[in-house]
Amino acid sequence: MKITVAGAGYVGLVTGACFAELGNDVICVDIDQDKINKLNQNIIPIYEPGLEELAIRNKKEGRLTFTTDLKNAIKESDIIFICVGTPPKENGEADLSYVDSVARTIAEVMDSYKVIVEKSTVPVQTGEEVKHTIKAYNSHNVEFDVVSNPEFLREGSAVNDFMKPDRIVVGCESEKAKKIMQKIYEPLKAPILFTDIKSSEIIKHASNSFLATKISFINAIANICELSGADVEKVAEGMGLDKRIGRSFLNAGIGYGGFCFPKDAEAFIRISEKLGYDFKLLREVQEINSNQRRNFVQKIEKALWVIKGKTIGILGLAFKPNTDDMRFAPSVDIISQLQKEGAIIKAYDPEAIDRAKSALKDVYYCNNPYDVAKDADALVIITEWNEFKQLDFKKIKSLMRNSLIIDGRNIYNPEELKQEGFSYISIGRKEVV
Ligand code: NAD
Repeated sequence: MKITVAGAGYVGLVTGACFAELGNDVICVDIDQDKINKLNQNIIPIYEPGLEELAIRNKKEGRLTFTTDLKNAIKESDIIFICVGTPPKENGEADLSYVDSVARTIAEVMDSYKVIVEKSTVPVQTGEEVKHTIKAYNSHNVEFDVVSNPEFLREGSAVNDFMKPDRIVVGCESEKAKKIMQKIYEPLKAPILFTDIKSSEIIKHASNSFLATKISFINAIANICELSGADVEKVAEGMGLDKRIGRSFLNAGIGYGGFCFPKDAEAFIRISEKLGYDFKLLREVQEINSNQRRNFVQKIEKALWVIKGKTIGILGLAFKPNTDDMRFAPSVDIISQLQKEGAIIKAYDPEAIDRAKSALKDVYYCNNPYDVAKDADALVIITEWNEFKQLDFKKIKSLMRNSLIIDGRNIYNPEELKQEGFSYISIGRKEVV
C-alpha cells in the first residue's frame, strides 16, 4: 500500500519504518526541514533501539522516503497516518493545531478516496472535528474515511512494541476503511479490536491514565511503607503475584514523566470537564506524582543538611531508560530545585546529554558514572539505566567525598550497599545509614 506518515517524530518515524519493513511504500513527512535533511543523510534524529538499522535499510531498498512536501505525499498515498504532536496548551488541553493543519492540507489536495488515520493521541470527539474540517475544506468533494488508530508503543522498545503489539485498536465507521486497516495490519498477526471512533479515542486516554494511576498508587503505598517501616518492594511483589493486579507499573520511585502520561492525564481531565465530568481520581493521581518529586528533593536536603555549595552527582537524565527523550523528565524539576538551593550539579546519562543541555543549564556533564562520583557529596539515581545497576562500588566510594547514595528508582539492594559502606536512601524502604 502507499502510505503517508505525517510527522516524523518518535511515533511517526517508528510507524513509517515499520510499515515500510512490512512491504509498503511509505513517505514520511515533517515540517522540520533540518530533521528531513538529517534523515535523508541517514542520520536518525532520535535514539530508539533498532530504529536506525530499520530506517536506513528500508530507505536504501526504496520503500521509505523522507520529505517536507506533504501535498505531494498525500496525492500519492491511499492512507495518511497523522502522527504529529498534540502537546499541552497552557490550560492543559491538547493543542490540536498540528492535527488541524494536516487535516486542512489533506482536504485541499485530496482528489481520490483516502483513509485518514489519527494515530496521534487526541481527546474524544477529535475524529468528528477532523471529519468536519476535511469536508469543509475539500473542494473536490471526494469520498474519504476518518479512522482512529491510537499508538501504544513505548519509547525505548518502540520498534518491538509496534511489530508485536498486545492489541491494535481501530475505530472506524465504514466497511471499506475497516478492510483497508485489516489488510495493513494483517502481517503483524496481532488481535485487532474494531470499535467506533470515540471509544477508540477514549481507549488511549484511559489506558495511559490507568497506568499513571498504578504508578501513583504504588507511590502512595511507598509513603505508608516509609511511615510504618514496611518494604514497598515486597508489597509490590505480593500484590503483583495476584493475576488480577499484575506486577508491571508497580515500581515505586520519583513518579512518571515523559511526553505521554503527564500530558495525556491532563488532557483527559480537561476533556472530561468539558463533557461535564469532574475526574477527581485522576487529579489526585497527578497530585501524588508531583508530591513524589517534591518529597525526593526533601530527602536529598535532609540527608545533606545544607545543600548550598554541595556537589551532587546525578545518574540518569532521560525520563526513562533506553531513550534520549527529556520531555517532562523528572530530572529537570529535581535538578532545577537543587540548583535553586545552591547545589553544584554533575550529571551523566548514556543517551540524553545532548537533549538535556537545552533543558538544564550550569550542569557539569560527565562521560561516565565514575566521573560523576568524583568529589561528589551525594550520588542521586534518577533514571534506572541498566548501566547503573552494575557499578564498581569500591571505586565509587573511593572517588566520592561522602559515601551517600539517594536512589529514586530502588535499583540497589540496601543491605549490599550497607556492606559496601554507603548510607543509602531509597523509596518506600528503610534507610540504611
Ligand atoms: P514528536 O514531537 O516527536 O513528533 C511530532 C512531529 O510532527 C515533529 O517532528 C513535528 O515537526 C511534526 N509536525 C508538526 N506539524 C506537522 C505537519 N503539519 N506536517 C508534518 N509534520 C508535522 O511527537 P511524538 O512523541 O512522535 O508524538 C506524536 C503523537 O503520538 C502525540 O500525539 C503523542 O501523544 C502520541 N504518542 C506518543 C508516544 C511516545 O511514546 N512518544 C506513544 C504513543 C502515542
